[in-house]
Amino acid sequence: MTNKFYMPTRVIIGDDCITKNSELFIFLGKKALIVTGAQSAKRNGSEKDVKTALESVGINYLVFDKVMSNPTIACVYEGATLAKENGVDFIIAIGGGSPMDAGKAIALLAAQDIEEENLFSGNYEKKVLPMAFVPTTAGTGSEVTQYSILTNDKAQTKTSIASDLLFPTVTFLDAKYTEQLAVTTTINTAIDALSHAVEGMLSVRASNVSDALAVASIRMIMNCVPDMLQALLAGSEVVFNLKQREQLLQASLMAGMVIAQTGTTVVHAMGYSLTYFKNIDHGRANGLLLGEYLKLVENVQPDLAGSILAAMNFSEADQFGELMNKLLGDKEEISSEEIKRYSKIAIQTKNIANSVVKPTEEELRTMYALSFVK
Ligand code: NAP
Ligand code: ZN
Repeated sequence: MTNKFYMPTRVIIGDDCITKNSELFIFLGKKALIVTGAQSAKRNGSEKDVKTALESVGINYLVFDKVMSNPTIACVYEGATLAKENGVDFIIAIGGGSPMDAGKAIALLAAQDIEEENLFSGNYEKKVLPMAFVPTTAGTGSEVTQYSILTNDKAQTKTSIASDLLFPTVTFLDAKYTEQLAVTTTINTAIDALSHAVEGMLSVRASNVSDALAVASIRMIMNCVPDMLQALLAGSEVVFNLKQREQLLQASLMAGMVIAQTGTTVVHAMGYSLTYFKNIDHGRANGLLLGEYLKLVENVQPDLAGSILAAMNFSEADQFGELMNKLLGDKEEISSEEIKRYSKIAIQTKNIANSVVKPTEEELRTMYALSFVK
C-alpha cells in the first residue's frame, strides 16, 4: 500500500507567538474576518492579541462571534455572507473545534458559490480564502486538518467537509489561552485528542510516520492523566499548570496531524449520534465508546491493540476502560431504540470502511449497550 503524508499548515508554537509574528498576517490579506465563539476568546486574551497583531501591521478586521458549539450550516453561510459583503480576503478562527471548523467552511464559501445541497460533495473550485487559526481548546486538532465538521440536520448527524483546500495556512499555539479551561472541558477535549491518536493507529491508512506521531501524542496525554484524576477528586475548577497545558495542546496538534492522514474510524462514527441526538460533548462521546472498541480490537487483532495499550502503559483493554470510567463519571442513559437507530446510522459511514477492524451492525449495537453500563 502507498502511504502519503501531507501537512501544509505552518505551525508556530510559544508564548506570545501571535504578537511576536504579526508580520505573517501581511501575507494572508488586507482585511480579516475573525471567526469565534460568543465569549471565551474575549476572556482568555486570544482575541485581544490577534487584534493587537493586526493593528500593528495595519490590517483591518471585523468580528463574527456567533459560532455555537457543533456549528450549523446556517451559521457558516451567515459568516460567509458577512465576509463577502465586507470584502474580507482572509479568515482568522479563534476558539475550540467549533469556531475553527466554522472558519474553514466560511473561508470556502466566501471564495466560491456553493449551494447547500452540494456543500459536502467535495466538488469545489480550487478557491479558498487564506486562514490563520488559534486553537483555545486542546483536543480537536482542527488547526492542522482538512476537515470542517458541521451539524447536518437533513442527514440528522454531523457531516464532514473534507478537502485539502481547508488546511489552514498558519496556526498559532499559545497554551496560555487554555489555562482557564474548566476541568471537564480539559478532560473531554484531551479524550478527543487521545481518540484521534488511537483511531489513527486503527485506520487502514495508518503508516509508520502517523503511528510515531500517534504514540507520542498518546504518551503526552497519558502523562497528564494523574492530574486530571486528582482534579476530579478535589472538585477543583482549574489545576493544570502551563507546562501541562502546553503538553496537551501539542498532543492535540500531533493527533490532528495523524487524522489528517488517516481519517477517524469506528469511535467517531458512533460518537456523532451521541452528540447530535443526546447533546453529549464530542470528546466525551468518544471516551464513552473507545474502551469497548479497543476490547473488540483486542479480540480480533491483539498485536495491534497491544501496541496502542503499550503506549498507555496498559497490558489489556479492560484497564483502559476502567480509566475512562473514572474520567467520565456518571453515564447518561441509552435506550434500545436509540441504540438501533444510532447503529444504523454509524454502519453507513465512511469512517467504518476506514477501520482495520470493521464491526458488524450487531457489534455496534453491543458496543453502544456496553459503553453505557454504569
Ligand atoms: P467547542 O465547541 O469549540 O467549545 C466548547 C466550549 O468551550 C464553548 O463553550 C467555548 O466557549 C469554550 N471554550 C473554548 N475555548 C475556551 C477557553 N480557552 N477557555 C474557556 N472556555 C473555552 O469545543 P471543542 O471540543 O474544541 O470542539 C468540538 C467541535 O470540533 C465539534 O463540532 C467536533 O465535531 C469538532 N471536531 C473537529 C475536528 C476536525 O478535524 N475538524 C476533529 C475533532 C472534532 P465559546 O463558545 O465562548 O468560545
Ligand atoms: Zn474528534
